[in-house]
Amino acid sequence: MLKQPAELGRATRISTDVVHAGEKRPFPHHALTLPIFQTATYTFENTADLREFMEGRMWGLVEGRAEYGRYGNPTVFAVEVRIAELAAGQAAVLMSSGMAAVTSTLLSLLYAGDHLVITDDSYRRTRQFCLTFLKRWGIETTMVPAGDLERLEAAIQPNTKVIVSESPTNPYLRVLDMEQLVEIAKRHKVKTLIDSTFATPINQRPLEYGVDLVVDSATKYLGGHNDLLAGVVVGSESLMAMIRQNQWVLGAVCDPHTAYLIQRGLKTLALRVRQQNQSALKLAEFLEDHDRVSRVWYPGLRSHPDHDVASRQMRGYGGVVSFELDGDLDATSRFIDAVRLPLIASSLGGVETLIEQPALMSYFELSTEERLEVGIKDNLVRLSVGIESTEDLMADLRQALQVG
Ligand SMILES: *Cc1c(COP(=O)(O)O)cnc(C)c1O
Repeated sequence: MLKQPAELGRATRISTDVVHAGEKRPFPHHALTLPIFQTATYTFENTADLREFMEGRMWGLVEGRAEYGRYGNPTVFAVEVRIAELAAGQAAVLMSSGMAAVTSTLLSLLYAGDHLVITDDSYRRTRQFCLTFLKRWGIETTMVPAGDLERLEAAIQPNTKVIVSESPTNPYLRVLDMEQLVEIAKRHKVKTLIDSTFATPINQRPLEYGVDLVVDSATKYLGGHNDLLAGVVVGSESLMAMIRQNQWVLGAVCDPHTAYLIQRGLKTLALRVRQQNQSALKLAEFLEDHDRVSRVWYPGLRSHPDHDVASRQMRGYGGVVSFELDGDLDATSRFIDAVRLPLIASSLGGVETLIEQPALMSYFELSTEERLEVGIKDNLVRLSVGIESTEDLMADLRQALQVG
């Protein structure tokens, strides 16, 4: 069963915060909803007004205004304030995609000659950025197996600046013990960055454990409707100020309309994630009991290697379930083709249930052997549970498991 929220008070508050946190009412013209300030730049009354702004400007958006769209937008800013509060951070910076948040953050933290440690079961493009792009600029990466904190600590060098990990990871939903991670990082004076996309602030708040930076692909649960691309990084005022100033240069800003859609999605985040937590757990239990399924990866199951850590540090186990079918690549494809309700698509976290065979989606260009090297089996299926009826989803999976 899902464990009870550690503090009911906090859980109730987050349901309120998703709807109201950071609001500065009344909005112009007493609009109920956050206005979309669809503007590329901002005007000044006269030169004195301009001079006053320039003299006072520190972080782009001063007293509700910026000089130019890349330096700030009131709609974007309002959403950043809300996400920061939800994640228990001092500030947040919205970006044009989750990858923009990852890359802009790492580019802000690292200099030539630095080193970083990354866990292996993490988003493929994040790994690619560290292992190929950062390497070109003289930044070395050591990859360690997710879940092995001893290897992780042993990988830390005198020039290590940051430990990068996801929790839960993709696609095996490995959960990192954040208390231990932070203890190790503090001892070595290394910063920590957690990609918390799979959990959202509803299920875990890494900053409360002392993690320095949290990245979230807002494309997934925060937006929640499979209709936008965005990312966000949350942390201390000083780190966010640095990342924001670099965003002015790197340019991966979030546009105001997308920001509005994120804010609209956030209002139902607590409801959606709670439903997805419950539904995913039931489906994971169903799959684990089924003859044609050889293995289920879901942290809410006792059989998952990180069940205990997850139960301690998460308020729900999330909406993604990965499982291995009893069969080869083609048999697995036949199962996927027999499923009617879940749509075949990459991505996760939206209201629609999505299904994919990672071997043929994110890892298509690799051979079976190369895929095995990175831990992706041909018979692996990743299910991102949406908000449809659990019974309908279960019935559909049951009929599809009879095929092939
Ligand atoms: C999707 C995803 C990303 C990348 O986000 P985009 O918005 O697609 O750029 C990063 N990390 C995780 C865990 C993801 O699921």
